[in-house]
Amino acid sequence: MLNVRLLHFRLTGLVAALLILGMTPACAKKASSSHTPVVSINAAFVPHVQAFVQAAAQQGQTITITDLIVQFGETPSSGDTGVCVWADDATPTVTINQSIWNTFNSSADEEEDVFHDLGHCLLRRIHDQSRVTGTTSLGTQGSIPQSVMYPVRIDGVTYTDNLATYRAELFSITNQF
Ligand SMILES: [Zn+2]
Repeated sequence: MLNVRLLHFRLTGLVAALLILGMTPACAKKASSSHTPVVSINAAFVPHVQAFVQAAAQQGQTITITDLIVQFGETPSSGDTGVCVWADDATPTVTINQSIWNTFNSSADEEEDVFHDLGHCLLRRIHDQSRVTGTTSLGTQGSIPQSVMYPVRIDGVTYTDNLATYRAELFSITNQF
């Protein structure tokens, strides 16, 4: 099953970018967040958030989570697996559709999904629609998404077959919005 992920974060990112462009340098200096940070991660996602931090470390990136919500909840349409909502003055929030989550066949499916939305919310990455040659779910060489930031879910088999590549790619780019 392929589930299209919501592009909502892109709108959020665009608004944030416009605000940044509109700010004077003086304002920019005061742009630090004034909301109260919170870390609230549903138990279902904790292993994958920990794996994300470990995978980042393996790529030489230290991620300390001080402000993040990862929860089950409503996504804007029933076909959306998850959504990251990111704004300048709010806790980055990942919301996962539980009925889709419950159809996942493996922890690889779960990790791919959580890493995608953490890619938005923690790395501030946008979608990447590129495709490259890699190992498909059939075990043959073929066209696969280049990045976990692909807008459509990558199945757990393909993700696992190309795990090292996907993890390295994910942490190689940050702050796209
Ligand atoms: Zn996405």
